[in-house]
Amino acid sequence: MKELKLGLLGLGTVGGGVLTLLERNGEAMSRRAGRPIRVVAAAVRDASKPRPGAEGLSLTEDIDAVIDHPEVDVVLELMGGTDAAREAVERALRAGKPVVTANKALIALHGQALFDLAAAQQTTLSYEAAVAGGIPLIKALREGLAANHVHSIAGIINGTCNYILTEMSQTGAAFDDVLSEAQRLGYAEADPTFDVGGIDAAHKLTILASIAFGIPLSFDRVTTDGIGSVTAEDLAYARELGYRIKPLAIARRQPRGVELRVHPTLVPEKDLLANVNGVLNAVVVRADAASPTGYFGPGAGAEATASAVLADVVDLARRSTGTDMPALGQATDGAGALEPLPIDEAVCAHYLRLRVADTPGVLKAISGVLAEHEISIEAIVQKELQTPGGTTTVIILTQPVPERVAVAACEQMAALPAISDSIHRIRVEHFDD
Ligand code: NAP
Repeated sequence: MKELKLGLLGLGTVGGGVLTLLERNGEAMSRRAGRPIRVVAAAVRDASKPRPGAEGLSLTEDIDAVIDHPEVDVVLELMGGTDAAREAVERALRAGKPVVTANKALIALHGQALFDLAAAQQTTLSYEAAVAGGIPLIKALREGLAANHVHSIAGIINGTCNYILTEMSQTGAAFDDVLSEAQRLGYAEADPTFDVGGIDAAHKLTILASIAFGIPLSFDRVTTDGIGSVTAEDLAYARELGYRIKPLAIARRQPRGVELRVHPTLVPEKDLLANVNGVLNAVVVRADAASPTGYFGPGAGAEATASAVLADVVDLARRSTGTDMPALGQATDGAGALEPLPIDEAVCAHYLRLRVADTPGVLKAISGVLAEHEISIEAIVQKELQTPGGTTTVIILTQPVPERVAVAACEQMAALPAISDSIHRIRVEHFDD
């Protein structure tokens, strides 16, 4: 199949991520897209900057040269800002080229005019990466929940604010100190106004509300309070009352309209959103049919954002072939396809409950068997005696090992004279690692 050729406007964090992901996963993407995907041109502000990973790609400082490049089929707007970005997107759409953007400000402020232009030119403007970075939220809301009447959307959609409030809450540090640390770690921009002032979240909420409630993009109607006024004291008092303070963006349907607001919010500590910490994003959608649904993940970062940008590119590529995405996303009989593994080869940790005789040396015998099978112990607990002179319970948590190793060790332990019952085993998983 003919290649789909991309022209990148911007090769910073997100543009660099696009190159990295294409290099690493390009082949798998091509299988899903139905045609190979390749970057053929890129524009940057300063072409003389060294750019590891972009060797071999000819760079220009002339945006129009990329848009008008005869080989470029799709333009990726990854520059940021609104003026130059808007002009570039308009030019590409006028040329009939589909555009993919990660620019929430552009969509929130000028989206409608750009979508209209795209429609008039019989092309498209895609923006999955513009909201919640790597979380495929636009697709979920626009397509996955198409049969629903949405009641509300509440989300943490600015990782910088979530990081700052999480750190303040966990360490008691002051806002300014945590902000400086966030800047040092690259979680906050040198000029953090858009993030901590809630403007970035308001851009994203504007887009989500428009999709969910069918209202025009209404950025100037969003009430926006930043997190700068929240003190470590507020976070501590909220905690005492059983709450966390989270930077929420909320769109809620009312009989006469839709509330649109971004502000620090007390959330009961048991709620899902209260437990989303650090730079992570999460959005909970309440609707009349499938409800609640939750979406959680990295809201920013080079590869996470590039993942959303390239998902839009794969959609475009697939549409351009005039064929649907294969039912299972890709052909499942291809070379290099993975085999389903037998349970013997599954690797996980194990919880073991053993009933043992209360005699000296029992624990030594048990640890001896585990050591023989090279199983490390994460924790071991001996419960108090249940029957004097009788048996007691020992609980062991192991480190991850292949299933067959755990089974062999359990069989060997069960044969020890001190073990008075079969061994009860439950698998343990640590998904947040
Ligand atoms: P970035 O690191 O600052 O990169 C911007 C790139 O655009 C740079 O390569 C820059 O060139 C180039 N550029 C800027 N203005 C230009 C101009 N007038 N002409 C030609 N090139 C120009 O920005 P980013 O973080 O990748 O963000 C890009 C977009 O993605 C923004 O809209 C942002 O809101 C959105 N986004 C970012 C993230 C994230 O995690 N970073 C997440 C979601 C969405 P130089 O390299 O020469 O300076």
